[in-house]
Amino acid sequence: MSARTLFDKVWTEHEVVAETADTPAVLYIDLHLTHEVTSPQAFSMLRAAGLPVRRLDRTLATMDHSTPTEAAQVFGRIPIKVDAAARQVRQLEANAADFGVELFDMRDARRGIVHVISPELGATQPGMTVVCGDSHTSTHGAFGALAFGIGSTEVGHVFATQALLQRKPKSFAVNVEGKLRPGVTAKDLILHIIGKIGVSGGTGHVLEYRGSTIRALSMDERMTVCNMSIEAGARAGMIAPDQITFDYLRGRPRAPAGAAWDDAVTRWRNLVTDEGAVFDASVDIDASRLEPMVTYGTNPGMVLPIGASIPAHEGDEIFDKALRYMGFHSGDAMLGKPVNTVFIGSCTNGRLSDLEAAAHILKGRKVAPGVHLLIVPGSQQIKREAEAAGYADIFKAAGADWRESGCSMCLGMNGDTVAAGMYSLSTSNRNFEGRQGVGARTLLASPFTAAASAVQGRIADPRELL
Ligand code: SF4
Repeated sequence: MSARTLFDKVWTEHEVVAETADTPAVLYIDLHLTHEVTSPQAFSMLRAAGLPVRRLDRTLATMDHSTPTEAAQVFGRIPIKVDAAARQVRQLEANAADFGVELFDMRDARRGIVHVISPELGATQPGMTVVCGDSHTSTHGAFGALAFGIGSTEVGHVFATQALLQRKPKSFAVNVEGKLRPGVTAKDLILHIIGKIGVSGGTGHVLEYRGSTIRALSMDERMTVCNMSIEAGARAGMIAPDQITFDYLRGRPRAPAGAAWDDAVTRWRNLVTDEGAVFDASVDIDASRLEPMVTYGTNPGMVLPIGASIPAHEGDEIFDKALRYMGFHSGDAMLGKPVNTVFIGSCTNGRLSDLEAAAHILKGRKVAPGVHLLIVPGSQQIKREAEAAGYADIFKAAGADWRESGCSMCLGMNGDTVAAGMYSLSTSNRNFEGRQGVGARTLLASPFTAAASAVQGRIADPRELL
């Protein structure tokens, strides 16, 4: 058999019916994750057709986008303040009960952002196909899974059939070599990659992140990288599983155990791109020269090393519109620009190691006067771990707002929003117009940069505070 890529191996393994010129492939789905925002229409489709959820054992629901982060609302001492959010929460509770879907509801100790809890449980495993009605499903590719977001109608298809109609994407090798310098993180790396290939650079492709830099990343860091694949336009991002992956998964509640674990690891070790396999596209990245990165525009590809100044693109109306929205000008330095809100959280950077990075900077320091620092763990388990490690005490002593888990200010559906015209430095993944609130101006960066900027009240180079 000819040399094959990791992506090709996982795709072929799940192809029930191969695609033709006229018809897409039928792809079997191993794990279907669902949440309150994109599932109501899909459950209605099942009801209308009189169908059950075909594989309850491969379906898992949680609540994350609309859930409040204030403890009094989560634990019921006061009602959920945002009506639309409260309706979505109640509807998922009712749908999950009607169809028998396992649900981590608002008060469940296992609840959290869908892309955080599935790896945490060991439900996401190498070689799987994983889908969810959410763009950032690409996160799970960090385990060597083929994982991608689907629309509400497709959520209904997977509920009903455990399969999906798909055209096979092309493959794209992102070769990353070199050691990241102190203060430079996986978030800076993926922002640099998106800046280099562009927000459409990966369109129609599955990225495979490869090379010595990627192999040296922890699972948390690999998830940060794969999470933002969609921001480069890619269908998915993948990293070949290795000993770091196996060590992360061993002993997790839904990972295989005993002899099944040994069998699984034997299978998983084959999930690598064969020597000599050919990719449809590739790019080479030198990670050893990277700086902390920060965005300045209204998509993640409008990004710069933190010490740089905003470029000019004469005659580019889209570029000019983005700068007008942000209130910035070509030639402006990014360092020193004031920030009003700092958000540390999301499925990109709401894991324990991200909170550890923030605590490292915030320890013994105070948030600058007038700045609101909101820190939201990615899951309730991470919240407990951060509290046990003392990070939450550090945050509170610094003057930060420490909350219950959820998507929160990543998109503001739960009422955690940024006011119009205000600047928000965020560790999330999208800086689109209005993403964090109508008129809000979002800048994306790492947890190090976010924490340093919260302390200084302006965009700051985290290396000065490490
Ligand atoms: S944290 Fe943001 S990007 Fe991630 S699942 Fe929630 S809303 Fe989507």
